[in-house]
Amino acid sequence: MPRVRRWDHRGFRSPTPEDPRWWFSQSGVNTFRSCPEQARVLWSGEVADVTKVQALLGAGAHAYMEHREDADWQRKVADVITEEFTAQGGRMGPSDHPMAGDPYLVLKTAVAAGQVFAQHLPGEPLMAEQKLTADFPFGVHPKGIEGSPDFVRDWRTGHYQVIISDFKVSEGRKYRTGRGGEAWKLQRYATQPRFYTWLTARFLDIPLHAVGWEYLVCNPKTLELTVIPITIDVADLERIGREMDGIIDTAMHMPGHWPLRTDDWHCSAEWCPNYNNCVGSFRPKLTLTKETHNAP
Ligand code: SF4
Repeated sequence: MPRVRRWDHRGFRSPTPEDPRWWFSQSGVNTFRSCPEQARVLWSGEVADVTKVQALLGAGAHAYMEHREDADWQRKVADVITEEFTAQGGRMGPSDHPMAGDPYLVLKTAVAAGQVFAQHLPGEPLMAEQKLTADFPFGVHPKGIEGSPDFVRDWRTGHYQVIISDFKVSEGRKYRTGRGGEAWKLQRYATQPRFYTWLTARFLDIPLHAVGWEYLVCNPKTLELTVIPITIDVADLERIGREMDGIIDTAMHMPGHWPLRTDDWHCSAEWCPNYNNCVGSFRPKLTLTKETHNAP
């Protein structure tokens, strides 16, 4: 009998007698793609994920977009940030980040980024931060997917009926240069637009090709906005379905460690919460010291 763990951590849920589907969020697939072993330790709860400053900036900017019409928006954004800081013991990773111990600077920067997004997005959203779920019809195993598009708005003048805008607060250094950067961009942006486009089309009951997608990336240092449109290739959804089948097979049949991806940029103390138990623990334990010979 294969061993099936019942994870309920972010990104992945295995079936229950009441619901025979395996459930995925886009972040779960992306984590597995970056490193299967990292996905295993996070999903099983063996290692806790650590919220990073970068993620907190994003959460603050999202909170600003969500509450900016409320008179009380400042307190609500501050609450989101303070809660995370407190949960992390008052300090965020990576520890050398200039905002790691400064919630007020995080708040100020997150709100400024939120204002940049708001300037780009006139009018009310059709949906914002609304949790959507749907059956995923591709692949062999029954699967469900879930996610919350950041901002879906009418797009009356162009090719699409609606546009999804997704906010990222990022310095962008990982994806701006070199072949490695291109690979990162493709990987980072491969799953999320496809999952959310599928969910949104299902929710609004419109064809898949009527939904457009753009990433809005705000650099927190310069507050410069980069717009990255993504074209959805529907055939890719089938490929992702096959990929999710592979993840399910791995979860069902592979006891112990899963494959390590030591060549991925996530494989570092900064980005992998499992680093010290994994690659970091294989460092040489002996330090060789240079012998000094005094001249006779
Ligand atoms: S340290 Fe590297 S190989 Fe090990 S789990 Fe993390 S990303 Fe994977």
